[in-house]
Amino acid sequence: MRAFEAVQKYFHRAADQLELADSRRTLLITPRREVQVQIPVEMDDGGLRILIGYRVQHNRARGPMKGGLRYHHEVDLDEVRSLASLMTWKTAVVNLPYGGAKGGIAVEVAKLSPRELERITRKFVDEIHDMIGPDTDIPAPDMGTDHRVMAWIMDQYDKYHGFNPGVVTGKPVEHYGIPGREEATGRGVGLLTVKLLSRLGRKMADARVAIQGFGNVGTHAAKFLHEASCKIVAVSDSKGGFYRPDGIDVPGALHYALSHGRLSPGYADAERITNEELLELEVDVLIPAALGGAIHAGNAPRIKARVIIEGANGPVHPDADAILDQAGAVVLPDILANAGGVTVSYFEWVQNRQHYRWSLDRVRQELDKTLSTAFEDAWDLARDRKVTLRTAAFMLGIGRVDRATTLGGIS
Ligand code: NAD
Repeated sequence: MRAFEAVQKYFHRAADQLELADSRRTLLITPRREVQVQIPVEMDDGGLRILIGYRVQHNRARGPMKGGLRYHHEVDLDEVRSLASLMTWKTAVVNLPYGGAKGGIAVEVAKLSPRELERITRKFVDEIHDMIGPDTDIPAPDMGTDHRVMAWIMDQYDKYHGFNPGVVTGKPVEHYGIPGREEATGRGVGLLTVKLLSRLGRKMADARVAIQGFGNVGTHAAKFLHEASCKIVAVSDSKGGFYRPDGIDVPGALHYALSHGRLSPGYADAERITNEELLELEVDVLIPAALGGAIHAGNAPRIKARVIIEGANGPVHPDADAILDQAGAVVLPDILANAGGVTVSYFEWVQNRQHYRWSLDRVRQELDKTLSTAFEDAWDLARDRKVTLRTAAFMLGIGRVDRATTLGGIS
């Protein structure tokens, strides 16, 4: 099953509950616009490379379209389309005045020099500058992109359309960014893990947690949960995992990852395990925070965690979701669990438009408020309708987008 088909499965499960007619479903699920562009770039060695870039604008019924930009060698149109539609439901679940979009370039960032990365980014903006903008479509960081890439996008856009810091979010704090954006997704994952454990009546102190992916989302989630007195027993990156039954020294691991660029292969203060082994550990909470599709029908029966928090986008395949549900596991879905990033992106966009500076305290407070409201809405709906948290979150998102579409008028 391809990524977009997987999102559609979840969509239809919720649409059934909402008793949406077929024509409404087609209207809501079909992307508004999809663009594929050629990006010819000169590499540092003088050679010419032709890359492919994508931008999918899924839905704008509730506001300008919002979504990250992913640089990864496996990026293709189907993946970008699925991530764009997730953004539509995500921005609606947390009730931000945005629609959904996503973009990406099929490229292996680790093999690029910073100058090559910059040239590729600027060339991409040359191709799509007419379709993005602070009132139309606002990119942000995702896998393989960061605050530097966002600053280059803003600068290149400026060459065509003038000063417009709100065209992109996730910019450096010193360059029109907002404090707290970098930590926001992982912090939100942590906050919501605490809320879910509390709602389930599970003890927070010493809850055993395994985190797959030690990048932006994984590191900040680890930091937050460690400070909330959970025990992070395993972490991993693309080259493998690390396990310490009595708890990883999180500040030490963060320091190591920061100074070496990554954990693998050198981090020595834990036992080496594979990424597959990490997913199947005897833990209370599992946080897949790397790529989509990590938990599938093949490994789902061996997953022992009874609380799964989707830090990544689409980490649980629909077939696996059903297996986990039958086994009594509770899954907090991506469109809610990792919505902290887009929430603080929204604050950044508001700040840029108001030319006003927000403090870190205010950002954290508003993030907590926004995510808590969305979590309680989803929790209550799941309980009332006897559906999973995923179906409840999709119902909230789809219902809001459907109402905005009706109120805005279709023809
Ligand atoms: P990142 O590039 O900062 O980190 C990704 C991490 O995953 C790295 O540690 C990498 O080594 C690891 N990884 C890559 N392939 C792996 C594999 N096959 N097995 C195990 N680990 C692997 O990316 P990120 O920003 O932390 O994003 C992670 C996930 O979270 C993605 O699915 C992304 O779409 C989602 N997400 C990110 C944000 C954000 O604000 N950054 C917001 C919402 C969702």
